[in-house]
Amino acid sequence: MPSPVGHSILALIVTGLYRPPDGRKRWWLALVIFAGCAADLDFLPGILMGDPNRFHHGPSHSITAALAFAIAVAVLGRRLPRRWVVLSFVIYLSHLLGDWLAADTGAPFGIPLLWPFSSAYFTSPVPIFSYFDHGGTGAGLASVIDQLFSLHNLLAIGLEIAVLGPVLWLVTRYRRRRSQR
Ligand SMILES: [Zn+2]
Repeated sequence: MPSPVGHSILALIVTGLYRPPDGRKRWWLALVIFAGCAADLDFLPGILMGDPNRFHHGPSHSITAALAFAIAVAVLGRRLPRRWVVLSFVIYLSHLLGDWLAADTGAPFGIPLLWPFSSAYFTSPVPIFSYFDHGGTGAGLASVIDQLFSLHNLLAIGLEIAVLGPVLWLVTRYRRRRSQR
């Protein structure tokens, strides 16, 4: 998996940095980043059980979960513009794309994209991002926290910014030009 930084940049690539829909800026950035990282909430039950990786890269990393997330946004935010619901789906998918494109060092490799219709795990044959080290299954919370602040992870974040930063800049520039026409 990429780091939360990589997932947040991917989410911002989906939405662009400027012009939140309908000018509702207040919660926009927080919601975009939350949608971009929501699939990794599957760490929470493991954290409560003292084994943070136990449920990671499970059903929350599937297209079905992306649909469920968008439906939840639609139900909880009934007053939100429909565009937000569609964007929440695409942002969630951007998380799956990021994880698919990242190196994975622990079996099962990749993510169960088609759960519950298939139990197969999918990963890119050519990883673009490094893995963001968060220990393995069975590693306790202290060990996971230790891994999170490793030099490797700092370099992994640097690679994500180097790859995704220019894409975000180009997308933002394109959107700004198009809106000025
Ligand atoms: Zn993930």
